[in-house]
Amino acid sequence: MRIDLHTHSTASDGTQRPADVVASARAAGLDVVALTDHDTTAGWDEAATAAAAARIGLVRGMEVSCLRDGVSVHLLAYLFDPADPGLIGEIEHARSSRATRMDRMVDALAADGIPITVAAVRRHMSAGATMGRPHLADALVTAGVVADRREAFDRYLHDDSPYYVSHYAVDPARAVELVRAAGGVSVLAHPFSMNRRLRLTDALVADMIDAGLDGIEVHHRDHDDDGVARASSLARVHGLVPTGSSDYHGAGKPNRLGENTTDPDAFERLLERARAVQGKSGSGSGSPGWGSPGLPRLGEEQGAGSGVEMLWP
Ligand code: AMP
Ligand code: ZN
Ligand code: FE
Ligand code: FE
Repeated sequence: MRIDLHTHSTASDGTQRPADVVASARAAGLDVVALTDHDTTAGWDEAATAAAAARIGLVRGMEVSCLRDGVSVHLLAYLFDPADPGLIGEIEHARSSRATRMDRMVDALAADGIPITVAAVRRHMSAGATMGRPHLADALVTAGVVADRREAFDRYLHDDSPYYVSHYAVDPARAVELVRAAGGVSVLAHPFSMNRRLRLTDALVADMIDAGLDGIEVHHRDHDDDGVARASSLARVHGLVPTGSSDYHGAGKPNRLGENTTDPDAFERLLERARAVQGKSGSGSGSPGWGSPGLPRLGEEQGAGSGVEMLWP
């Protein structure tokens, strides 16, 4: 059982449509894939249809952008109600702030003579996608300023660049609470990323654990050996579910599907926690109250289009 719980599609800054991410996951020999676009669930329906056809397990997820004291934190959220008003409110706030922030980054680059416009950036996004720096990178490639996304980040778009502008994002501990209130589970994404500008403090991680954090990404290409050791020690000490994932972005990054995977036992623990949350958050009936017949057990047969969170081969 090969499980990859972190991928992006054109619903955010990946380069493949949701259906193609799922097809690629199947081709890569994965049994389960999660779609976790930045601050949106817009890819879920297309991915679910594709997953049913390809007979691969799909976990519906999202990578929530969070910010505290200038430190950017990414939180992977899974199996939550996509219509939950609390979570949606924060996501929408971040999405509108991402648009304003893009205007400012483009203005700053243009002021230095770099030929770029917001219209050019938008040409690299699919309709309704979460706007991010990778789309700006793509526009810089098209303008002939840089060769690829990587060079765009290295020269102009990295977090310490004079052209970098942050955007509104929810507090990370609050995000953990909101995901839980929406019936989902949360996993701290790449906490010890080597290319992160500011390190996560112990106090911040402790706050997120207190808020009900369920898991922590241990195996991720942005972690060096020390990062893996620290994340796995946090998992052990605090009873967090350790995950491993690719953070696939199609052609936008070198990350390959399945290059890191999540242990089936860990995945089962994550599902177990989702069942517990949904059992508690239901309107007394033991069901989550948003049309979900409940989570399947690992290996259980699921009918296509049944509305469940996961479809099994
Ligand atoms: P944003 O959310 O708009 O601040 O942009 C962050 C996104 O940029 C993340 O999803 C990263 O995957 C992506 N990113 C960061 N560095 C690079 C890089 N060197 N090459 C390609 N994508 C990158
Ligand atoms: Zn991304
Ligand atoms: Fe991330
Ligand atoms: Fe990601």
